[in-house]
Amino acid sequence: MVPFEPSALPELLPVFYRRLFPHGAYGRWLGYGGVVKNYFQLREFSFTLRDDVYVRFQSFDNPQELERELQKTNPYKIDIGAVYSHRPSQHSTVHLGAFQPQEKELVFDIDMTDYDDVRTCCSSAEICSKCWTLMTIAVRVIDRALVEDLGVRHRLWVYSGRRGVHCWVCDDAVRRWSPALRAAAVEYLTLVKGGAETVKKVNISEPIHPFIRRSVAVVEKFFEAYALVGQDILGSPESWEKVLALVPEDIRGTLQGEFPRKKDSVQRWELLKGQMERTRRVSGKSGPCYADWEVMLQYCFPRLDINVSKGLGHLLKSPFSVHPKTGRISVPLDLQKLDQFDPFAVPTITSLCHELDTAGDEAEQEDGRETEPKRRARDYKRTSLAPYVRVFEQFVEEMERSRRGERLRRSDLQGDF
Ligand SMILES: [Zn+2]
Repeated sequence: MVPFEPSALPELLPVFYRRLFPHGAYGRWLGYGGVVKNYFQLREFSFTLRDDVYVRFQSFDNPQELERELQKTNPYKIDIGAVYSHRPSQHSTVHLGAFQPQEKELVFDIDMTDYDDVRTCCSSAEICSKCWTLMTIAVRVIDRALVEDLGVRHRLWVYSGRRGVHCWVCDDAVRRWSPALRAAAVEYLTLVKGGAETVKKVNISEPIHPFIRRSVAVVEKFFEAYALVGQDILGSPESWEKVLALVPEDIRGTLQGEFPRKKDSVQRWELLKGQMERTRRVSGKSGPCYADWEVMLQYCFPRLDINVSKGLGHLLKSPFSVHPKTGRISVPLDLQKLDQFDPFAVPTITSLCHELDTAGDEAEQEDGRETEPKRRARDYKRTSLAPYVRVFEQFVEEMERSRRGERLRRSDLQGDF
C-alpha cells in the first residue's frame, strides 16, 4: 500500500472531493427528506483548511452548493454542528442572543485514550488489533441500549479515522432533544465512574438494573479472548493485584494465595468468578458480591464523553471526512460485520487515489474511450470506498423508507375521518 503523506493533501483533496466523496447520499442524509424546508440551510459546517485554519459557521443553500464549496476549498477536515435558529453564515447579522442551536443528532464520541488505565498493549493515540476489541464492545453495548432501552431507530456508527468511533442518532424526535435529555441518556449509559484517583470505578448492588445485566452479557462474549488472553490481565502479580484491588478484602486474601498455583489468566479468572458466584448462591454474612461483573465492566465497558453528547453546539467530525494525521477516511461501520472490522484496512486518501488511477487506466483500455460525466458520479465504486458508501446509502434509504411509512400512516389516519 502507498503510504500516506500529509504533505500530499493539497494534491489529493481535490481528487477526493471531485471523484470520491459521496455527495448525493450525504445531501440526502442532512436534508432529512426536506420535511422542514430550510433545515439544510440552517446547519453549521466547519472546515479545517491548510495550516490548521479553522472556519466555523459555514452554511449552504442546498447540498449542491455544499458540493461546489467542498470542491473549491478542499478542506482538510469537515465538522458538522447544529441546526440553528438562523443561517450560520449570517450569524453575525442577527442581534446578540438570538442566534441559537435548535436541533442536532444525538452524538457519541468513544475514544481509545479513555481506556489507557485498562489496556496494556498501547497508550494514548496508539491502537492495535488487540485493543480495538474495546471499540467493538462499545458499539455493541451502546447500540443495543439505544435500540432496546431508549427506542431509537436510526443510528449511524462511524470510524473516526484514528483511534475511536462516533455514533450519530438521527431519529426526528431525538434531534429535538434538549441538552438535559442528552445528558440524562449519557448518564443512563455510564457505568464506569471516577477519574484517575478512583480505584474502583464500577459498583453494582441489588436489585440489578436490566441495563447492567444485558451489558454484562455483551461484555462476556469478548472477555476471555480480549481481557484474559489478549491483555492477560491476570498474567503476573503486578497485573492481578490491579484486579484484586476491586475484590472484597476477605476474598482477596484467598485469591492471592491461590493465584500463583494457577497456570494462566483464564484459570485464575475461573477461580475468581467461582468465588463470586458462591456469594450469590449461598447466603453468607457479607451478602451477594458482583466483583467479577464489576471487573469485566471496569476493563471493558464503554467510556463516553458527556460534553460531546450534551451540548447542541458541539462539533463532530463528519462521516467521509479525511483524518488529517492518518489520511484514513471516517467510514460508516457495518454492524452486521462489526467483529471483522479492521481499522488498519480502512482506505486512506492516498490509497483511494492510487486505486482510481489504476482503475481508470484499466477502464480506458476496456472501452477505448472515456465518458467523463458518467465516470465521475460512480468513481468511488471502482475503489475500496464502495462498500462503506453502500453502508451509508443503506442507512439513508432506511430513514427515507420510515419517513414514507410515517406519511402513509398519517394520511390513512386522516382518511378515517
Ligand atoms: Zn493496543
